[in-house]
Amino acid sequence: MKIEYCPLCGWGPLEKPYESMEELWFSYDICDCCGCEYGLDDNEPYYEKWVSEGCRWLYPEAKPTGWRLQDQLQHQIRPWPPNPLT
Ligand SMILES: [Zn+2]
Repeated sequence: MKIEYCPLCGWGPLEKPYESMEELWFSYDICDCCGCEYGLDDNEPYYEKWVSEGCRWLYPEAKPTGWRLQDQLQHQIRPWPPNPLT
């Protein structure tokens, strides 16, 4: 399964898509938007906390004008499976 959007917050399309969940988890990349680190804290509780704290972008300069969370929710992967490595 190709992953072209942040599975947690739905941001994307990502500059470099991942070929699989394993590739995503082993990348330890960090989402510009929700700031989760794949393979470390990409889990639904992290996402819920991020939303409850007002959806602050990790890199505000990457945030498009007029950005709305609800426009990218369809790209989330739910349920997002827990990382088997943690
Ligand atoms: Zn994200």
